[in-house]
Amino acid sequence: MTMTTPSPTGRWRDAARAAGLLRADGTVAATIFAEMTALATRTGAINLGQGFPDVDGPHAIRQAAIRAIEAGHNQYPPGPGIRALRQAIADHQHRRYGLDVDPDTEVLVSTGATEALAATILALADPGDEVVTLEPFYDSYAACIALAGATHVTVPLLPSPDGFRLDVEALRTAVGPRTRLIVVNSPHNPTGTVLTPTELAEIAAAARASGAVVVTDEVYEHLTFDGARHVPIATLPGMAERTLTISSAGKTFSFTGWKVGWLHGPAELVTAVRTVKQFLTYSSGAPFQPAIAEALGDDVGPRALADSLATRRDLLCEGLVAAGFDVVVPQGTYFVVADGTPLGFDDGAELCRRLPDLAGVVGVPVSAFCRTPAPGASPDAPSDLAAHLVAGVRFTFVKREDVLRDAVGRLASLRRA
Ligand code: PMP
Ligand code: GLN
Repeated sequence: MTMTTPSPTGRWRDAARAAGLLRADGTVAATIFAEMTALATRTGAINLGQGFPDVDGPHAIRQAAIRAIEAGHNQYPPGPGIRALRQAIADHQHRRYGLDVDPDTEVLVSTGATEALAATILALADPGDEVVTLEPFYDSYAACIALAGATHVTVPLLPSPDGFRLDVEALRTAVGPRTRLIVVNSPHNPTGTVLTPTELAEIAAAARASGAVVVTDEVYEHLTFDGARHVPIATLPGMAERTLTISSAGKTFSFTGWKVGWLHGPAELVTAVRTVKQFLTYSSGAPFQPAIAEALGDDVGPRALADSLATRRDLLCEGLVAAGFDVVVPQGTYFVVADGTPLGFDDGAELCRRLPDLAGVVGVPVSAFCRTPAPGASPDAPSDLAAHLVAGVRFTFVKREDVLRDAVGRLASLRRA
């Protein structure tokens, strides 16, 4: 793999290390998603690695963006986002979850959820502060915590007959007086877990007791299956005043490249985040903002997408089981975690490197979503990872059914190998 950037220094170096991308020679690798997409392109393998749909979102929403371009929405929009989108976000939160949100003071539009997360962590976490996340965790969390100079503390999700579940004892130990932020992600990437009201109540209790702010990444809020219900943690008692809720149009409407995200929460926290955001991007996505404002009024489209994803999840999960993997069936998101141990692969990273040759398919190792080993240790030997994470591979099912059928057919060769 030759994708490198020059050696970074200071906190950028810490961020690269935290994201598991710092090599022994000081250079930095591309993110695991970029690396695996490049691997798929190079080998012609089916890309079930990076999570993006292979069918674009609804025609009507695309037309709305085209109309906005033609109508001249092509210069900087206001930094906090256009009024119509902030209003649509507030309406959506009220209609779907009963949350009361002031579109003028409590909403901020961002360049995807990624920027909302980065600006939030940079605005609120300082050196000496602890930021708690679940583990496995989305890769940008660790990098942003390191950029802020804060300390990353994790709480595992453990596999059980009920799927990956929150380790409540570990949560109680992890959250304390130094905890500034608790970053929640449900529905959860990569496990597909939808946190239960009981798990959310435990997190809420820990936040209230410690005085921590909760940052909740809900980008898969509408992509849940089998009747699993997404409950925003901001709806729990006493939580709206200490929660920043982050989401994005990318997953809900199948426009991951438009990068329209947002956050909402108490005005003083949103103001702090806006202060950072104005120096990151200031604003973005002028013609996409009115299109997403229109899209957010539609509750039927996202439900249809979730139903179709549930069918595709079943297709992929059944194929993975038939190929010999152990699978934890996800209740939401684009992703399923499969364990290659029954096939003789106890290292998911190694399996992912070999998978294009073995089966013509690309996945992402779950270890890429885990804490990296101590500085100096080889990034290829994550010694402190639980075995269930070391062996895990994340596959996405947000692909056309014919693509998934092809992938499942190819994966079947693993059992024969
Ligand atoms: N959080 C999670 C859990 C994600 O999976 C992703 C990307 N899929 C993001 C945040 C980033 O979202 P966006 O593309 O809107 O920046
Ligand atoms: N969120 C997507 C995933 O988890 C990828 C986003 C990215 O490439 N940074 O696959």
